[in-house]
Amino acid sequence: MKPLCLKEFHNAGERFLVDVGELQDAGAKVAGIYCLFAPVELVRAAGAIPVGLCGKKEKPIAHAERTLPPNLCPLIKSSYGYAATDTCPYFSASDFLIGETTCDGKKKMYEFLGRIKPLHLMHLPYSLTQPHALRFWHEEILRLGSFLEQFTGRSIQRDHLQFQIRVHNRIRKLTRKIARFQTEPRVPISGLHMMTVMETKSFFVDPDDYINLLERLITEMEEIVASGFSPFEPDTPRILLTGCPAGNGSEKVLRIIEECGGAVVCQENCTGVKDLDLLVEEEQADPFLALAHRYLQIPCSCMSPNTGRMDLLHRLIGEYHIDGVVDLTWQCCHTYNIESRLTEDFIANTHGLPFLHVETDYSNSDIEQLRTRIEAFLEMAR
Ligand code: SF4
Ligand code: SF4
Repeated sequence: MKPLCLKEFHNAGERFLVDVGELQDAGAKVAGIYCLFAPVELVRAAGAIPVGLCGKKEKPIAHAERTLPPNLCPLIKSSYGYAATDTCPYFSASDFLIGETTCDGKKKMYEFLGRIKPLHLMHLPYSLTQPHALRFWHEEILRLGSFLEQFTGRSIQRDHLQFQIRVHNRIRKLTRKIARFQTEPRVPISGLHMMTVMETKSFFVDPDDYINLLERLITEMEEIVASGFSPFEPDTPRILLTGCPAGNGSEKVLRIIEECGGAVVCQENCTGVKDLDLLVEEEQADPFLALAHRYLQIPCSCMSPNTGRMDLLHRLIGEYHIDGVVDLTWQCCHTYNIESRLTEDFIANTHGLPFLHVETDYSNSDIEQLRTRIEAFLEMAR
């Protein structure tokens, strides 16, 4: 038993390409984005359509390594490889790109992407708490606004931006409600299916259609919860997956956990719930400042210190009744790799839960080794 509308989430990428093609013929612009720090409300307020371009597959990496050093995280190499080989239809559909100076590898990779398509780079302060960080980021939001106006030829009206803020807050609330069905004692859908649902946040053209789809999923999920159905046995260990972003094509760790008898009930990463609780202040007189304030709170490991991630983990462990935590680091991702030690200490000291740090890439070469480690970890989490 699974939601009937799940198929529409699986097909969201194809649907996006069909719908966006028609709008582009009518003059709309598409903004390729790579990170949660890209303020999608602002993109929409300028009449453009955002689409997520993070590379999640191994195939384009070999080509990327002709230009980029091999010892970079696979997400960066995959993203660049897709662009350099022009093999990603979403990249092809993008009229321009928005990047942010998050980790070192990504910000330098953008210099190469900027040779392929017009790219606007937002400079990110690495602190949540310093007052000048908010001022600086506010300026960067305004600078992006000017770029968008220039590129799309459409001026950003304050009331339209406020409207887009309300729309995207609504989407976040609905998505959060869907994720929270996994807090139920009988988990209604697998972590793999939930990942598919969550990924569609980056692939919709019409927000109203997307809201309608989310609402239909909520209705179906309520029925599944009421029926008491779960794809998992009652004593299945409930796992929280944290760390680097993962998705369709780079889901191997999530898949192995569920194949080995665990249930990934929560993903504290950028595909999952990392930013869903962060809403933009709707009544703020300056909507640009409201955006700056919200986006600066994202608990990414490129921030220092990144205490927001520990606060979030603390809350999620309680809400989702977690039995064990798996921390995924893509190879050569220094920020998440270093932060893993802090995360492990935090989980041990605060919750005393089993913790497994997995460092891997997009290849299948370590599947059996991972399976052995994850099986042993799940025994501890039972
Ligand atoms: S982990 Fe950080 S840098 Fe990577 S996509 Fe998420 S917010 Fe952006
Ligand atoms: S996974 Fe790490 S190294 Fe890779 S892009 Fe994200 S923050 Fe940067």
